[in-house]
Amino acid sequence: MEWTISIKGKNELGDVCRREVRIDKSDERLRDGDIGLSISDGKRIMATLQSAVVNLEAETYALFRRVCPDCHTFRPVKDYTTRRIRTVFGTVEVRNPRWMLCRDCHPGMDAAFAPLKEICPDRATPELMELTARLGSLIPYRQAASVLAEFLPVEPTETHATVRKRTIKVGERLDDQITKESWCARTQMDEQHQLEMQLPGDRRKEFVVSIDTAHVRSADANSARNFEVVVARCGRGGRGDAGGRYFTTSNTGQHAIRDRAVHALRRAGYCGFGDVAVISDGAEILKRLPRAMPKPTTHIIDWFRIAMKIQPMQQIADHMVRSHSGLTGALPSIDKDIRAVKWRLWHGRVDRAIRDLVRLVAEFKTWQEEGAFAAVRLHNLGAQLVTYIRSNCGAIINYGKRYRAGLRVATTLAESAVNSLVAKRMVKKQQMRWSQHGAHMLMQVRTADMNGELRDRLRARFRLPEPQAPSLFKPKPPLLRAA
Ligand SMILES: [Zn+2]
Repeated sequence: MEWTISIKGKNELGDVCRREVRIDKSDERLRDGDIGLSISDGKRIMATLQSAVVNLEAETYALFRRVCPDCHTFRPVKDYTTRRIRTVFGTVEVRNPRWMLCRDCHPGMDAAFAPLKEICPDRATPELMELTARLGSLIPYRQAASVLAEFLPVEPTETHATVRKRTIKVGERLDDQITKESWCARTQMDEQHQLEMQLPGDRRKEFVVSIDTAHVRSADANSARNFEVVVARCGRGGRGDAGGRYFTTSNTGQHAIRDRAVHALRRAGYCGFGDVAVISDGAEILKRLPRAMPKPTTHIIDWFRIAMKIQPMQQIADHMVRSHSGLTGALPSIDKDIRAVKWRLWHGRVDRAIRDLVRLVAEFKTWQEEGAFAAVRLHNLGAQLVTYIRSNCGAIINYGKRYRAGLRVATTLAESAVNSLVAKRMVKKQQMRWSQHGAHMLMQVRTADMNGELRDRLRARFRLPEPQAPSLFKPKPPLLRAA
């Protein structure tokens, strides 16, 4: 069987373009179960059609840009070269004219411009850039390259290096946008701060920044083995509500984190006033953030970090009481004592919790010297807990009250964000090493994708008002003559 597909295009000037693609389908194949068009047929069809469409579009655009907007005559030709435009359906080579500026309207100026550069600055379409970057941010660059080649008529020269380059380029573009927007958000915030009276805390208006860090193995032999990246989710709403926007950065300076957080909060509806809660695990680089944030900002230690430190002590104590072993003679209510510490911490009674803990730790120490194994474990765990609580005592709040009010008490959001944004690609593959720049840019792509704005952000720069952009639907006099 023989199939012929023809495509016919007509532009606003009546230029017609025709292209045909023929596909032979031998009946032999049917016996192998190969019915219908295959991926490789599809690649060939799409590549042929794409080449026709791109050629006519590029030619038409260049022709419109040849008209001088001032005197409506054709601009002189400087030269013709070719330009390769990479699209999801293959690379198309098009004629790339360069027009001189009009001699009558710009006397003495000897400048030329390439109109195709305006619509295709990357030599790859935004769709191809987006697709490559999205895949590159999700799976290893090598795999991304082979997935693309599997389904699309891309050139064999487009390897993992191409994927990496595009992903980082897209990341840089996104990073640049966010940095500019963050800067604007900060200036607006400073102005607003002087204008707005501080509103009394309305709990329903609370914004939450759930923030966490992850360690990525460094490829740079001259720096530390690991570097830290910050991952967060920012939004309004309590437990059970949607988590809000993501942000990520490998710049762990408090102002850099603050700017990203404020930017994400503004996008989530924050206007510079109202309560903000920063929930973190107490990591050093995050501790200073709440003070840099607009007021009123509360810093809260993730309740589960505290609970997780108490849990092993509780288990040992419960076991001891059940089996009447170890210290139960000396500390018959050890299980209840530890539960009481947890209860006090849950209700934000830090001083009493510390006092009780210190007393318990001292007792464990006595029994540790007697050689009771459980006491050694309890002493170590208890001492660690005291240190943790002391160094975070300002951020331990009345969790019970917050919980009953339906507000968040844990960074589960940030932890799941770490998983979806960083861990799969950068942390769990321990043999992989990253440059801080590469990791940061990749995270920007992934974040924009998770925030559902990757496409919009990549096309935004094409939407800038361009004064000389021609209207394709109102042919100017010389074009009407040409038609
Ligand atoms: Zn002119």
